[in-house]
Amino acid sequence: MKILISACLLGEDVRYDGENSSIAFGKDFTFAEKEIFMDILCENEIYSFCPEVSGGLATPRDPAEIVNRTKPFIVKNKNDEDVTINFLIGARNTLDLCKNEDIKIAILKSKSPSCGNEKIYDGTFSKNLIEGQGLTAKLLIENGIKVFNENQLREIKLLLDY
Ligand code: SF4
Repeated sequence: MKILISACLLGEDVRYDGENSSIAFGKDFTFAEKEIFMDILCENEIYSFCPEVSGGLATPRDPAEIVNRTKPFIVKNKNDEDVTINFLIGARNTLDLCKNEDIKIAILKSKSPSCGNEKIYDGTFSKNLIEGQGLTAKLLIENGIKVFNENQLREIKLLLDY
C-alpha cells in the first residue's frame, strides 16, 4: 500500500521552528505505538511530504494559523503576513502527488494548519484548539483520501489489517 506521511513525522526538520515531530524518536509515543509505526514503514511504500515547504515556505518560518476557515481561505503568520497562497499551493501539490502516485492513505501531523485532520488552532495565536482541518488535510479528504494523524496509529493498523 502506498502511504503519504507528513515529513516532520518521519523526522525531517521541516517544522516551522526548524524541528521535527518524529514518531520513532518522540517521547510522547509508547513503545507499542512506535512498533506499529515501524511496521507501517516496513510493510508499505512511504511517501514523505511537507506541504508548507512544497508551497515555498522557508524553514524555520513564523508559525501560521488559518484565520478564515471558509472560502476564500486566509492563512496568516504571527507577523500578520498573508501566506495563504503558499498553503494553497502546498495543498495542491500534495493532492497532485497522491493522484499521480495513486496514494489513498495519508498519515498527517495533527493540529497543523496544513496537515491537521481533526483539530486546528483558531486563528488567534492563543493556543486555542477548535474542530477543523488544515488546508491540505481538507483537500485530501474531499478527494477521497483517508487521512489519519499520528495519534490514530491503531486505526491505521486495523485498516491495513496486519
Ligand atoms: S506542513 Fe505538515 S509536514 Fe510540514 S511541518 Fe507542518 S505538519 Fe509537518
